[in-house]
Amino acid sequence: MTHPDSSAEALPCSARGCRAAARWALRWNNPRLHAPERRKTWLACDEHRSSLGDFLGARAFLREVTPLAGSPTLEEWTRTTKSRPREREE
Ligand SMILES: [Zn+2]
Repeated sequence: MTHPDSSAEALPCSARGCRAAARWALRWNNPRLHAPERRKTWLACDEHRSSLGDFLGARAFLREVTPLAGSPTLEEWTRTTKSRPREREE
């Protein structure tokens, strides 16, 4: 039986030599090269999220880390951050 891999569309991690599917998007900005609102994105698997994040963090380039859409991590993250009560709007 051959089953096509459902994760075939997964984006690869940006770490050199890593072929794991990325689960995180590291959004960064180099103030010397980029306008303040500009964001560069590196993709990272679970394993490289901290090493790539440390690299950017050490240079004060890292702005935010967000779960990549379509990754199982996103559901987990949404579940944990949605604990905030919904505010009522008109
Ligand atoms: Zn990786």
